[in-house]
Amino acid sequence: MIGKEKQKELLRLAAEAREHSYAPYSHYRVGAALLTKNGAIYQGCNIENASFTPTICAERNAFFKAIFDGIRTFEAIAVIGSGELPAYPCGVCRQVMAEFCDDDFLIITSNADGSEVVAETLEQMLPHRFGPKDLL
Ligand SMILES: [Zn+2]
Repeated sequence: MIGKEKQKELLRLAAEAREHSYAPYSHYRVGAALLTKNGAIYQGCNIENASFTPTICAERNAFFKAIFDGIRTFEAIAVIGSGELPAYPCGVCRQVMAEFCDDDFLIITSNADGSEVVAETLEQMLPHRFGPKDLL
């Protein structure tokens, strides 16, 4: 599991990614920084759409960029929102994490100003999940 310094670096990169957010409807801006097992970091931001359904979260944006590059193993993700509460990943993003990540995949969430940070594993955030092993 990554240490506190690496977690801080990921949160800083997530905050940087948040600057790219396109959220004209909710005004809830989110950034993510995804650490791969080989040490690469992919950033993502939320991108909203007037028709709402095509909207994508910052976490999936980061995952899909990495997956496009052929990466399939991940260590941790930091997510920072623009509200007073930590930006916990939505259910859809947790399910995407379940597709590619192990139980100990670390999810670090923060509120807008970084004063409240929570770090939990995928197992803690999505217990009893449906995943690839269920289709073997
Ligand atoms: Zn999401």
